[in-house]
Amino acid sequence: MTEPSDTPTWYGRGLPHVWLPYCQMKVAPPPLPVVRTHGCRIVLADGRELIDGIASWWSVCHGYNHPYIREAVERQLATMPHVMFGGLAHEPALTLASRLSAMAPPGLSRVFFTDSGSIAVEVALKMTLQYWLNKGRTRKTRFLCFSDGYHGDTLGAMAVSDPARSMHKAFREVVPRHFVVDVPSGAASFADVDRILDEHAHEIAAMIVEPLVQGAGGMRFHSPEALSGLHRLAKDHDLLFIADEIATGFWRTGYRFACESAGARPDILCVGKALTGGTLTMGATLAAEHVFEAFLSDDWDAALMHGPTFMANPLACAAANASLDLFEREPKEGRVRRIEARLREGLEPCRRLPGVVDVRVRGAIGVVQLAEGGDVYALRPRFVEQGVWIRPFKDVVYLMPPLVIDDAELEILTGAIRRVLEEAR
Ligand code: PMP
Repeated sequence: MTEPSDTPTWYGRGLPHVWLPYCQMKVAPPPLPVVRTHGCRIVLADGRELIDGIASWWSVCHGYNHPYIREAVERQLATMPHVMFGGLAHEPALTLASRLSAMAPPGLSRVFFTDSGSIAVEVALKMTLQYWLNKGRTRKTRFLCFSDGYHGDTLGAMAVSDPARSMHKAFREVVPRHFVVDVPSGAASFADVDRILDEHAHEIAAMIVEPLVQGAGGMRFHSPEALSGLHRLAKDHDLLFIADEIATGFWRTGYRFACESAGARPDILCVGKALTGGTLTMGATLAAEHVFEAFLSDDWDAALMHGPTFMANPLACAAANASLDLFEREPKEGRVRRIEARLREGLEPCRRLPGVVDVRVRGAIGVVQLAEGGDVYALRPRFVEQGVWIRPFKDVVYLMPPLVIDDAELEILTGAIRRVLEEAR
């Protein structure tokens, strides 16, 4: 890695000591030094401003450095930046728990706070396995999950992600094996799910799904009908239904939670990313009362033994409560519909470019699917030259901008995609 010229001293001093995410450090281009963020903008050390098309890994829903969230965190910082959650409780966490449970799909009455999305998934998996153990169903130890699924980078989460095509495929022999099936795309394609459930439901603890949009596995969409069919099958076969809404929650797909599109009532729901408005790290695992009750016992071994050091961190809870205030004050349904229309208009012309095999839009998510085999990583610096922050991966170029983005900024983002793909052909 060689660093760009004219960089700040902290950059040259620190860069040789960091191990960066999701990249081959031998050949990866150096990261761009960034000094400030505001609204939908990322300000680089050399003064350039990039419009963020991916909202810092899909988290910054109200825009960066929102004064309302910042002030809430500053107030909390002055009184209690942190305190452990074991044996102690505080107002920001209890307020947040009651608000999350009130806004989630019906029945999710208990909130377990975590420090990231992957850990919210780990907790969901652990809760599920122990739910069945506590009920004496000791053989229900496997999960039904989906091709192109992605649920996080920790071992349990990797095991329920696509084992063959995901970035974690190197681990397929060392993580527990689960049942993997394609997300059904029509009535006939439920046959595979039916077959697995008919043969193996007695050993399957839960189905885990990213509702409506599979994100990091390749930005694939499925219909509300497919989702409601899966939910019904899970219920009919005595499986828990885990909805991983870490990427789709908080209006990203146009619904508060994507499960609402299908009237699906998950037994367990995972949230993260936009939970704090993208300000601080936090996840949560919401459980239905019947899941919670299965842990109530005179036997300590039946208890959920989990408790990350920084769970329910008061600063993160304050940011999340402020983010929920903003959602209440400035409803996002209309905005997401407008973003959806602009993304459709702006990206649809890409369909006729060579190498483009699909263009799809759902809510505030726009995807240009390229033919397999191209080098999408080579496109990344081209986007920076266009003044936008867009990070294609696998075979997709996609946008998931802050939900506060305006039409002019959206046009710059979609225009950059049209131009870069046009030049790349
Ligand atoms: N589940 C889904 C659906 C995700 O998109 C992600 C993050 N991309 C995760 C889990 C993991 O969340 P985190 O990166 O906060 O651990």
